Amino acid sequence: MQGEFQREIVLARGLIDETGARHRRALLRPLTGWQEAALGTAAGGVDGVTADGMLASCLERLGGYRDVTPEHAEALSLGDRARIALALSAMMFGERVYLTLPCPNPACGELADMAVSIDEILGTAGEAEPEWLEAGTPDGRARFRPPTGADKHAVAGREPAGPAHQRDAALWCRIVARVGERGPLTPEDWLALAPASRQAIALALARSGTAPELFFASRCPSCSAWLEVDLDPLDLLTRQFRLGADRLLAEVHSLAFHYGWSEDQILSLPRGRRWRYLELLQSQLEGRPLLGTWS
Ligand SMILES: [Zn+2]
Repeated sequence: MQGEFQREIVLARGLIDETGARHRRALLRPLTGWQEAALGTAAGGVDGVTADGMLASCLERLGGYRDVTPEHAEALSLGDRARIALALSAMMFGERVYLTLPCPNPACGELADMAVSIDEILGTAGEAEPEWLEAGTPDGRARFRPPTGADKHAVAGREPAGPAHQRDAALWCRIVARVGERGPLTPEDWLALAPASRQAIALALARSGTAPELFFASRCPSCSAWLEVDLDPLDLLTRQFRLGADRLLAEVHSLAFHYGWSEDQILSLPRGRRWRYLELLQSQLEGRPLLGTWS
């Protein structure tokens, strides 16, 4: 059953439980006004803990799980986390995302607009992606899986931030289970593999289609230079909440002023319901019928 403000999506990998069973069907609900307000005023970007909490709160259900925890969200692949963030963005801010990018041509510098369709990115659900991916390499057959939120957090938390290739090695040795006879791997094992082997694994992962395609390009309307953007869905959501912070305050003000509700009551409503009341209020104030059929 899908409610009025809900949306169902099918994840590519889903949550794999201890028995090996998959939970791919996700029922999403919009965040409450309180959550919007918190995310809209958070300084800086979303950290891993905030992202896990946000993803868990918007999951009404995930396969057999009715209580989705931040730990479940953390265990999802980065591709599936991106899918959930995109679906949440579509549900709360509309299916089309409008990006404004500065032209990379220094002689031009114009701002160009790009529109991206979330439904197109999400596409239709196909077969479940394999639990393990494989690729042939000069060091033998490699077995690996797509990275999860937990992998990303584990590597991001490493202090001090070492050279990029060492941080990458820390991530790769978490997700590569075996190469030839070797496995599990240490970061040193990963770096000791033939460059062609590491490249073959990275290429096979990129081509596996486990993450949605988030790279977009278009031409600058003034000078035809290529504009390229790598969309980060979690980052997009944070920016959308931040841009919506002032509007949210104005919504609370209008509803409190006209209905006499408290801030707490108003922020407990999801956005769709707030907007319905605001539409009714506008009709009433303009002397229009509240429902088409009442006239
Ligand atoms: Zn240009």
